[in-house]
Amino acid sequence: MRDLIIVGSGPGGYVAAIRAAQLGLSVTLVERNGLGGICLNWGCIPSKALLRNAEVLELIHGADRFGITTGEVTADFGAAIDRSREVVRRLRLGVQSLLNGNGVEVIPDTATLTGPGTVGLTGRDERLQAKHILVAVGARPRPLPDVPIVPGRVVTSREALEERDLPASVLILGGGAIGCEFATIWRAYGVDVTIVDVAPVLLPAEDPACSEALAEALHQRGITIRTSTAMQGLHVESDHVRVDLHGPAGDETVRVERVLVAVGSTPNSDQVGADAHHLTDRKGFIRTDAQHRTGMPGIWAIGDVAGPLLLAHVASEQGIQAVETMAGHATTPLDYVMMPRATYSHPEVASLGMTEPQARETRRPIVVGTFPLQANARALALGDASGFVKVVANGDTGELLGVHMVGHGVSELLGEPLLGITLETSLDEVERTVHPHPTLSEAFKEAALLALGRPVHLPPRALQRQTG
Ligand SMILES: Cc1cc2nc3c(=O)[nH]c(=O)nc-3n(C[C@H](O)[C@H](O)[C@H](O)COP(=O)(O)OP(=O)(O)OC[C@H]3O[C@@H](n4cnc5c(N)ncnc54)[C@H](O)[C@@H]3O)c2cc1C
Repeated sequence: MRDLIIVGSGPGGYVAAIRAAQLGLSVTLVERNGLGGICLNWGCIPSKALLRNAEVLELIHGADRFGITTGEVTADFGAAIDRSREVVRRLRLGVQSLLNGNGVEVIPDTATLTGPGTVGLTGRDERLQAKHILVAVGARPRPLPDVPIVPGRVVTSREALEERDLPASVLILGGGAIGCEFATIWRAYGVDVTIVDVAPVLLPAEDPACSEALAEALHQRGITIRTSTAMQGLHVESDHVRVDLHGPAGDETVRVERVLVAVGSTPNSDQVGADAHHLTDRKGFIRTDAQHRTGMPGIWAIGDVAGPLLLAHVASEQGIQAVETMAGHATTPLDYVMMPRATYSHPEVASLGMTEPQARETRRPIVVGTFPLQANARALALGDASGFVKVVANGDTGELLGVHMVGHGVSELLGEPLLGITLETSLDEVERTVHPHPTLSEAFKEAALLALGRPVHLPPRALQRQTG
């Protein structure tokens, strides 16, 4: 009997398969669609490729700021979609070759849980057996009740990532990461974009300073933001979609060419029969313990189908932890507060750890330092100095509790505070690090210096403003 069957080859499943094979387990991976899951095929990767197109276009449109005159610029959105699909194709080949190289058997099929240690395969009318089964079937865009998908008119991210034509106007339902990223892409291509959310702010899980700065930056790019606003009705007409909204100013009807529904995700537990085995909670997520065991012996679950944080790197880390536990290794439960999070809008938002309000709720003494990128040499040289790096730390010990950033490319700055927090680094230790100049990473050190009350690159009056 094989050791392990993994259902689903997203960043949870395929990474778990490779690690399990490295640990000497015999592994079969069942995948009904493209290797790499939603992340690689219809999520993280194609959206980031399109965001790069948007960035290039924004640079060209703003070239005069650099003393560069361009002629008439034409931007072919279909070509952008093609480029994103090519990036996906190359990465998918990479996953395929990694799985082959590690001796993982891949079966293209749909699997269903049939009991402890067995899964049924739809295409082969066959059952597979293993000592362990790891369910990594992910999630799909959550539909809104009574709002069917109408290609070209009412879409989710899945359709939006392959539609080659651009609408003149789009209303995005949902001001989370996916909504803000699509707003960035479409706005760069000249689309009239409105974001609607019932929450009072964009990215409500982020530090309030990040939500506010992002809303301001998107507004400056010409994106309309309607928070605290509920969609009351949606009607697809012949050449537009009519959307009834209720917000702080009362009722209003908006007409747009396209609506993007980006209101969250529904776990695919029903697509693998986990619900039939009563393994799920009220929202359909598979319930697991800290080591990813479900309520059924030998069945494990990771990634978006299990939650709690629906992110690719979380799925991968959970997958590694699950198979290491199966192989008899001791593992430490993941700390979900300390998981890095990024929204790749322009500007980007990147964070980890506690927000300032969360840190204050702990009733510990807290110090905060917020360093504006306007005072960072590299950001000014890049011509994109909006945003900041904010550090939240324990006021007694200087221990880093959270880092929150807004700005050009700040997702790439997460690595340093991530390592710092993992190693329980204090502000004093950050102060002793030497950062290359000129880099955006200096803003992290400056934010730490601000929290310590001794910034180098801000005048004393800025310190007084921050400490209040
Ligand atoms: C537009 C968009 C952008 C995103 N951007 C980011 C980002 O920038 N960063 C980030 O961290 N996260 C991002 N995410 C979230 C990220 O894609 C998910 O967190 C991640 O894909 C979860 O990985 P997973 O392995 O749990 O599942 P998935 O990647 O969803 O993979 C599950 C796989 O299981 C397969 N499957 C399902 N049922 C069966 C079955 N019964 N039998 C066989 N196979 C089955 C599916 O076909 C799929 O391939 C984004 C999501 C979207 C939609």
